[in-house]
Amino acid sequence: MIKANDPTLRSWIDVQPTSDFPIQNLPFGIFKTQSSSPRIGVAIGDQVLDLAILNKLGFLDKFKIDNSVFTNQYLNDFISLGKSTTNTIREHLSHLLDINTPDLRDNKEARARLFQSISNVQMQMPVRVGDYTDFYSSIDHATNVGTMFRDPNNALLPNWKHLPVGYHGRASSIIISGTDFHRPKGQTKPNETDPPVFGPCRLLDFELETAFIIGKETKLGESVSTANAKEHIFGMVLFNDWSARDIQTWEYVPLGPFLAKNFASTISPWVVTMDALEPFRVKGYKQEPKVLPYLEYSGENNIDINLDVYIHPDKNEENLVSHSNYKFMYWTMEQQLAHHTSNGCNINVGDMMASGTISGPNPDSYGSMLELSWRGTKPLKMKDGSERKFINDNDTVIMRGYCEKGGVRIGFGEAKGKVLPAI
Ligand code: MN
Repeated sequence: MIKANDPTLRSWIDVQPTSDFPIQNLPFGIFKTQSSSPRIGVAIGDQVLDLAILNKLGFLDKFKIDNSVFTNQYLNDFISLGKSTTNTIREHLSHLLDINTPDLRDNKEARARLFQSISNVQMQMPVRVGDYTDFYSSIDHATNVGTMFRDPNNALLPNWKHLPVGYHGRASSIIISGTDFHRPKGQTKPNETDPPVFGPCRLLDFELETAFIIGKETKLGESVSTANAKEHIFGMVLFNDWSARDIQTWEYVPLGPFLAKNFASTISPWVVTMDALEPFRVKGYKQEPKVLPYLEYSGENNIDINLDVYIHPDKNEENLVSHSNYKFMYWTMEQQLAHHTSNGCNINVGDMMASGTISGPNPDSYGSMLELSWRGTKPLKMKDGSERKFINDNDTVIMRGYCEKGGVRIGFGEAKGKVLPAI
């Protein structure tokens, strides 16, 4: 077992049992305060540990890392140090925060400089995203969509079980949790007989997803095998792939998603490392028909991550509308990456690869309003008495994710965004 994942570890920092960030997690992010520039932090309990100061005070001396890696507005340079280094740093931080390690515990002066309350910091985009790809890898989601729009008896298209379907998205509009955005406008065709119109999207939706972040580049022409894929994946975040369904319906033929997708995608700020998620690995789907050799894998490649979606109407209570799980993915991250690079397409540190909407088998585990309201035929009741078929202006959508086992909870925090009226 990885030492930093030991469920018996306790920190000298007080961590509530409901916290997403116990000593076994130690996710990395970029934060700033009113008085400090962006830098790398690690979340523990309700505190953020400032790695730039930790390095400056000499507690990371053995790694000999230039402080510009830590006083940086992105994690890319840090991630580029390589997994063997970043994993060892996580182990070292675990040691420093351990209740039995006096170095920081008994150094009041250092502690005062090293920690910020999470509520006092402003989280930033964790990585500079060069390229972003979105997959379509949940079998329940693909089946639901195929059932609604095509043929319930042939819901999956012929390619679906043979390759992880995906498209290239847009990196520029990936935004950090807490960033509000305006309802997109676009071209739609409200009915068969009338010509298309331009105006605010009427069917705004969320897509419950996660994304993994590339930790090691490849050169043009190289392919990553499923066995080596783990080497190239640094960590994961929550991902809301906001979608304008009415724009999508009219525009997507024949080349796929475009303006219905690229107006905003919200991510959670803390990157949970693959090391921290390792104890929560579970068996994947039995894949039939058998996949081609380059997509075969062995071992437990799915992860048991609870994924919840809430709608928070303006000035009212939040409502849980979906409870799903990452383990419902048919295609694993390792297969997605092997497929993505199978033609020699190169990848770079900081690239983001999203899962696709993650729906479970039950109606309360569907990952989009399209499915939850079944194309608007089954509106969802909110606690304030209102109904939702899709997302209204001034609604906030919040996604939360966490793994839980043996008394350890490894959480992702939130991916949250508010929809402002169209401009
Ligand atoms: Mn999507």
